[in-house]
Amino acid sequence: VAEKQYLITPGPTPVPPEVAAAIAQPVVHHRSPDFKALLSDVLAGLQRVFATQNPVLLMTASGTAAMESAVVNLLGRGERAVVASAGNFGERWAAIAEAHEVEVVHLRGEWGERLDPDTIATAVGGCGARVVFVTHSETSTGVVNDVQAIAAALRPAGAMLVVDAVSSLGGIPLMTDLWGVDVVVAGSQKALMTPPGLAFASISERARAAAAGGGQGRFYLDWEAGLRAQEKGQTAFTPAVGLVQGLAAALELIERRGIDRIWAHNRRLAQAAREGVRALGLELFSPDDDSSAMVTAVRMPDGLDGQEVYARLRDRYHVVLAGGQGPLRGQIMRIGHMGDMDEFAIVTALAGLGLALHELGYGGASPGAGAARAVEVFASAEAP
Ligand SMILES: *Cc1c(COP(=O)(O)O)cnc(C)c1O
Repeated sequence: VAEKQYLITPGPTPVPPEVAAAIAQPVVHHRSPDFKALLSDVLAGLQRVFATQNPVLLMTASGTAAMESAVVNLLGRGERAVVASAGNFGERWAAIAEAHEVEVVHLRGEWGERLDPDTIATAVGGCGARVVFVTHSETSTGVVNDVQAIAAALRPAGAMLVVDAVSSLGGIPLMTDLWGVDVVVAGSQKALMTPPGLAFASISERARAAAAGGGQGRFYLDWEAGLRAQEKGQTAFTPAVGLVQGLAAALELIERRGIDRIWAHNRRLAQAAREGVRALGLELFSPDDDSSAMVTAVRMPDGLDGQEVYARLRDRYHVVLAGGQGPLRGQIMRIGHMGDMDEFAIVTALAGLGLALHELGYGGASPGAGAARAVEVFASAEAP
């Protein structure tokens, strides 16, 4: 049953009306000239958002499939790779690689910490791995890793860098070519404001060459087959045509708003979220600075179960935030502010959080203090 919801999660994110309307258009045939034109527009738009001249492969799948595609195209069984992780999605890189019998050298950081570029470079030098997997925005903790510094640290060793940007691409700066990132994977349902179902991988020349001459068994996720089809203006298999139509509208929206302004907008929302959280007398789990602009993670007060707060928000107020994952389950609450979010999403999240906590017996601050503080932040700085 369709019910009103305030979706303020780190994905899927709300779909703008323009995108929903584009998806509702009649389906065009995927081998028709109309689709060819649509695909060509979308691929060019994606290249601009990825900040790359490399081809971006479009897959009909969730973001994890794009991650898996990187593993099976770049690594054979028994080959060695480095995974640097400090959260749930970093763990996923290791799990995928291990499922494909890649020998994983796993550098595990504390959840909530940033990855250290030098540690990664040293490990790569020590084990001779050709491929390194990291996460840009670690959605489970709110931490954004310094991909630029990691890429720079890896340059002397010549290892390829693969970045999971599922929850960051389009929301915060990620300069694929300038920073020298070989493979960036992303999905449609977060900062790209399109429903779940499309995944992307930008593939550098050397990554494409490595995939053509190596990797392991794959069919649907075979990069070379996909890229060759795209070079002919097609997709290798029937794509989610409706979602591609929606994505075209979303990319147009991004272009119209301007990517720089979107980045600044997200930083401002994150700042208001952080200040609101503190005004509620709560502690931040995610870093208290501008680097963390996609997800704000809030520690739940002692004695309160985050899952209960989550359920109260959802059932009583139709405000959908995200709880903690893995070891953080019950301990944190995550406010997603990527995609088509505005000031009122933040005010709503903070007001809902204040009310739910109050009802569950929290007496740390007045229930409206967070929302009020966010409004003040918005009033004090002009919108970008
Ligand atoms: C959401 C997310 C994914 C997973 O994407 P799915 O579309 O659920 O497969 C991967 N990595 C990060 C960082 C994410 O935020």
